[in-house]
Amino acid sequence: MNCRFCNSELHHVFADLDYAPISNAMLTNEQLNEPELYFPLKTFVCDNCQLVQIDEMQKADQIFDADYTYFSSYSSSWLQHAKRYVEMMIGRFGFSSDSQVIEIASNDGYLLQYFKEAGVPVLGVEPTANTAEAAIDKGIPTIVDFFSTTFAQTQLVEKEIKGDLILGNNVLAHVPDINDFVGGMKTALKDGGIITMEFPHLLKLVEECQFDTIYHEHFSYLSLYTVSKIFNSHGLELFDVEQLQTHGGSLRIFAKHAADTSKTISPNVQELLETEMMAGIADSNYYADFQGRIDEIKYSALEFLIQQKRAGKKVAAYGAASKGNTFLNYCGIKGSDLIRFVVDASPHKQNKHLPGSHIGVVSEEQIREHKPDYVIIFPWNLTSEISSQLDYIREWDGKFVVFIPELREF
Ligand SMILES: [Zn+2]
Repeated sequence: MNCRFCNSELHHVFADLDYAPISNAMLTNEQLNEPELYFPLKTFVCDNCQLVQIDEMQKADQIFDADYTYFSSYSSSWLQHAKRYVEMMIGRFGFSSDSQVIEIASNDGYLLQYFKEAGVPVLGVEPTANTAEAAIDKGIPTIVDFFSTTFAQTQLVEKEIKGDLILGNNVLAHVPDINDFVGGMKTALKDGGIITMEFPHLLKLVEECQFDTIYHEHFSYLSLYTVSKIFNSHGLELFDVEQLQTHGGSLRIFAKHAADTSKTISPNVQELLETEMMAGIADSNYYADFQGRIDEIKYSALEFLIQQKRAGKKVAAYGAASKGNTFLNYCGIKGSDLIRFVVDASPHKQNKHLPGSHIGVVSEEQIREHKPDYVIIFPWNLTSEISSQLDYIREWDGKFVVFIPELREF
């Protein structure tokens, strides 16, 4: 296999999580009687450009099928994040009714709705039909398709649409062909236009052993160092970067055409590049002990769960999403003996089963009814939000547990 960006042959495994089903493939009761597809879940780091990337596998259109169940608007903190972003961008760059904003992977319009409210023309590009329909119902024009260089040329440029702002949150890391994707943004960007992209920061993944952010839909694990190389190779240049708290530590990059001299380059870019270099991001040794650290987390989690089982304690979990699925599958947890059920706020997930582990997904009322002794929080990045929402488990001396970066009960 060769690097998705620089085409060098890949030699070094970063993390090998064995086999796992596609993490958003929730199962209905009927599907539990059918065979389940598992794919290798293995990541490599490129010796040449240090792009951490997943092994080649099935095509993206098999992953993002019409039953895709993630609706961004069900997360109130994510909506807040989107709203603040829109206010910041309008304040800083003065987007107006004369501007064109294009969002790639616009989901159900969770973000573009705020630009629309401010009178800025918007266009969403979203490959999953059911979330795109929800956006269109909100009055947000949305094209149901994958973004690519061909898409940018035929669906945008040839229809005289170019972006003053092209943005994408948690999509850059999720595209199989990152060169084609970045090339498409170059094609669809106006001369003085701006691109912003948010993605989880590889530095945080390594530092905090966030191995559960590895799943099949997540093709690249990105540092500023490597992203900067990728953008430069497509005639784009980063002119600012922000470090965000979202998803356990993300970056928001700001890019422009390399030839556009109207914007000053913030010192933030060079400072963060230096921080990454100091950490060793360009050195293969930096990635070498990751697998051993993952295994330690797995052993301590299994020890904890078996101990509670033997002590007759009831354990439940919160958050039926990719992180929990990667974690459960790598730990080899199956059925409801160690973890009785998983609670999720999204009605699209309730009354289904997690892929692989087959643990049932239920609504929050089940916590009040069953009074678990422990509630595992799978989305550790939302620990404070979830623990305050479920604070009532203290009434029966219930405790919370998170496993990453290390086992902690509180
Ligand atoms: Zn490479």
